Amino acid sequence: MNLSPLSTPPGGDPTPPETGAPAAVGAYGSTLAQVLKKTFGYSAFRGHQAEAIDHVVRGGDAIVLMPTGGGKSLCYQIPALLRPGAAVVVSPLIALMEDQVAAVRELGIRAAYLNSSLTPEAQRRVERQYGAGELDLLYVAPERLLTASTLELLQSAPIALFAIDEAHCVSQWGHDFRPDYLGLGDLAKRWPQVPRIALTATATQATHQEITERLALDQARHFVSSFDRPNITYRIEPKASVRDQLVRFIREEHPGQAGIVYALARASTEEIAAHLRGQGVDAMAYHAGMDTGDRRQTQRRFLAEDGLVVVATIAFGMGIDKPDVRFVAHVDLPKSVEGYYQETGRAGRDGQAATAWMAYGLADVVMQRRFIAESTGDQDFKRGAHARLDAMLALCETVECRRANLLAYFGEATRPCGNCDTCLRPPVTWDGTVAAQKLLSTVVRLDRERGQRYGAGHLIDILRGKRTDRVAQHAHDTLTTWGIGADLSDAEWRAAVRQLLARGDLAVGSGGHGVLVATPRSWEILRGERTVALRKDVLQARKRTSASRGRAASGSAGGGNGSEPDSADQAAALSPQDEALFERLRAWRAKVAKERSVPAYVVFHDATLRALATCRPDSRTALMDIPGIGQAKLDAYGDDLLAITNPTGDAD
Ligand code: ADP
Ligand code: ZN
Repeated sequence: MNLSPLSTPPGGDPTPPETGAPAAVGAYGSTLAQVLKKTFGYSAFRGHQAEAIDHVVRGGDAIVLMPTGGGKSLCYQIPALLRPGAAVVVSPLIALMEDQVAAVRELGIRAAYLNSSLTPEAQRRVERQYGAGELDLLYVAPERLLTASTLELLQSAPIALFAIDEAHCVSQWGHDFRPDYLGLGDLAKRWPQVPRIALTATATQATHQEITERLALDQARHFVSSFDRPNITYRIEPKASVRDQLVRFIREEHPGQAGIVYALARASTEEIAAHLRGQGVDAMAYHAGMDTGDRRQTQRRFLAEDGLVVVATIAFGMGIDKPDVRFVAHVDLPKSVEGYYQETGRAGRDGQAATAWMAYGLADVVMQRRFIAESTGDQDFKRGAHARLDAMLALCETVECRRANLLAYFGEATRPCGNCDTCLRPPVTWDGTVAAQKLLSTVVRLDRERGQRYGAGHLIDILRGKRTDRVAQHAHDTLTTWGIGADLSDAEWRAAVRQLLARGDLAVGSGGHGVLVATPRSWEILRGERTVALRKDVLQARKRTSASRGRAASGSAGGGNGSEPDSADQAAALSPQDEALFERLRAWRAKVAKERSVPAYVVFHDATLRALATCRPDSRTALMDIPGIGQAKLDAYGDDLLAITNPTGDAD
């Protein structure tokens, strides 16, 4: 695309705008909006986008912290179009560069990439294009950027800006550390005139600081958004028969849609994938034990299609930039809230409604506590691991808003969200003090039998007065607590044990084997010093939540203007007619994606297809009003789309 640079070249004015200036009021304000509409097909900026873009276009440095799906790419793509020269984008996600470049080329942006996957011939072609000023965007792998030959290449033509994507990779304490990122601070010395923008979705206070220091961004303006993901519905339900629950969840709420199911063990990813296939769900396993070819094949299919479910260990994720993942399901308890938030964050990057679903039960708690007890780490390590798990369990057992609990963990205060299970159906609690006393006194009695190993199952058998072989063998029907808990079901007792464990009112012994032991807190309950409110487990009846998202706007930690994706993006359920049209559009998209060998979302995002299905545009002008349709896509697909949305329009 030949977007002419602005009449006053922004590169000539490196003065940062006055701080506190409202979004895009500067000389470029209208130009920015025009580019947004014409190239990207969107009519309004989100959150801090406009301010950050305006700042970089004028030559300022920026640090952009935005949640996944917040729209970080536009923050460097629009300046790339408006400033003279090519923008150099550093990204560690080499496997994705090809798709990223394909996606922007679909918009008419001139883009290419340099990484180790290119043939020498292809590489020379890219270098020639760069030298001739024929590129708007050049994606470069970090290990490439600082080689002598790349630096020489970059000297040969003007650079619009440097964008450092996934900037948290510079943090040595983070889990995605890339040594090559440490060298990126030198860009400031070599090209002091060229603005730099660092972007990430993973930033605690400490990482934020490290990014600023290590990338020499001390002059940068900081654009910090709320980390809320309002389009994700959070749900955590008690585990009964987890495979059936999972199948039901997918069938009833996300049939035919793309999703990720996380499990802890490699074997269970394969079993669950096979089970799903048996139930008619298109599913594949993914774990680090598979050979590289199979893994790549699964990843490719997942990215390219819009309806595959991948059942994976956490090895699947880094670099999964797919915007239309409609759900993330956990069938095992994650070890920490950080992990849970990162994994669930892979759902709904496109801003459309998505679900984070988890089933969790007593065995999960026992297992995770055991892992820690039996780990080889020192006391400090174990204390840290227990604390992280405690926070995760508190999220699972909370009777308050899940989102508020999650965001509080990251230091952000919000009101109840109206779009999580506890908000939508507030949990019922009951006074479990007496039940807890019965249970704990049985634990204490069994604990006196040194050397014996009784888990929760046996404990519950005793409480319910069930005459098993084990009970007979140890004469446990003579215990004073024998049969005193017949009023509660097995499931209710398991829920009680789980909740007491989650809160530290009961513990898993350090000897391993999942033996339950009393804690100082247990004695407070036994002595009647404290009452115990227990949450009633309800297996969720099916309920479509997508129609009920009257969610109150949450506060934003960055003090910025609320940075939630526009609520219009979060579509309500489609009517049956619209749904049928949506499916026709999806089939058309699949065909086009296949012909062009690009992922389906590169052709159009779900949001665009939904808008097409509900608005049924009947002219090219009407098409231009659909979000996600800019000039290039109108030219490429306009006629096809009109033939589908308006089939009788030109027939007579
Ligand atoms: P991030 O990199 O922050 O995870 P992306 O840049 O991939 O997010 O953007 C997420 C999605 O939101 C993309 O589909 C993008 O096209 C869309 N998007 C970005 N900005 C806007 C906007 N202002 N209006 C509508 N959609 C937008
Ligand atoms: Zn809520």
